[in-house]
Amino acid sequence: MLLFGLMEKVIIIGSGCAGLTAAIYAARANLSPLVLEGRQPGGQLSTTTLVENFPGFPEGIDGPQLVLNMHKQAEHFGARFSYAEATGLDLTNEHVRLQVDDEDWLETQALIVASGASARWLGLENEEKLIGHGLTSCATCDGAFYRNVPVCVIGGGDSAAEEALFLTRFASKVYLIHRRDRLRASKIMADRVMACELIEPIWNTTVTKYLTDEKGEMCAVMLRNVETKEDRQLEVACVFVAIGHDPNTKAFAGKLETDPDGYLLVRHLAESKHPGVFIAGDVADRVYKQAITAAGSGCAAAMEAERYLSGLH
Ligand code: NAP
Repeated sequence: MLLFGLMEKVIIIGSGCAGLTAAIYAARANLSPLVLEGRQPGGQLSTTTLVENFPGFPEGIDGPQLVLNMHKQAEHFGARFSYAEATGLDLTNEHVRLQVDDEDWLETQALIVASGASARWLGLENEEKLIGHGLTSCATCDGAFYRNVPVCVIGGGDSAAEEALFLTRFASKVYLIHRRDRLRASKIMADRVMACELIEPIWNTTVTKYLTDEKGEMCAVMLRNVETKEDRQLEVACVFVAIGHDPNTKAFAGKLETDPDGYLLVRHLAESKHPGVFIAGDVADRVYKQAITAAGSGCAAAMEAERYLSGLH
């Protein structure tokens, strides 16, 4: 367990691509950073499949393997890791104070916030209760449980396309339910989806209700065509929600500047408006949201933190 009152040089919140890259750079600068991994170690890449666009891997690399490699690389240079989660922030003193797991407060000379983003849900009745009972946001984690049964994916972006393609390994049929008449996914992913016989797109349609069997497991969804307003029932054993992400900024509410959607605001390079607090990755990125841009901003945040600690700012 972490010690109360410990003074750290650099604390990094988050262990996705941004946090781990920041950890590699800060550790190589001999700052012995402490990485708070939080509830989803490895960030979004830990729930993805093959990453084909991270430079240096011509055959692609599995997301979980990529973050594991980064973790090892950071550890090799002296980064320290804890599963603790940042739950509060105090910026009123000379040094940044950070609360972990709603208990201890740590002090740090520099803080890098790379807390990422979390899967968005539809907000339908019973949604929370159904997670793990036929409702999920992670095909890599749960796809293999649904063999030879029909499933559906909700969304029209790259995540939805990737999830749908992955699920064709197991499911008898994959319905891709999208509220528009075309995918927003990149062309290469959209083309793959459209060429796949096992995937059936259902356009201009939203899910309005989850239906369960007598054991409380998902068995069907109610669909509404947004143009004709017609409702119909679709039998599926599992619903994979892939409608984007929201930035993880709850712990910093009112303490760090955000835009109206909760994304942290970066002033210059990776700097926040508070001296000693730096920002990296998807928690501040509403545009690119790529592993490589997250890694790049993690690098910048660590280099800015190092400059700050050397009094160069
Ligand atoms: P996204 O691009 O924001 O797409 C979200 C999708 O969900 C959109 O099609 C959106 O519909 C739909 N949606 C949002 N809210 C909804 C709601 N309440 N009900 C129904 N549908 C809803 O998110 P993403 O797919 O997670 O991708 C995020 C970023 O990661 C993107 O930049 C993407 O390129 C990247 N990514 C890349 C890869 C890859 O390169 N292999 C894989 C995954 C993600 P509208 O189209 O109507 O807005």
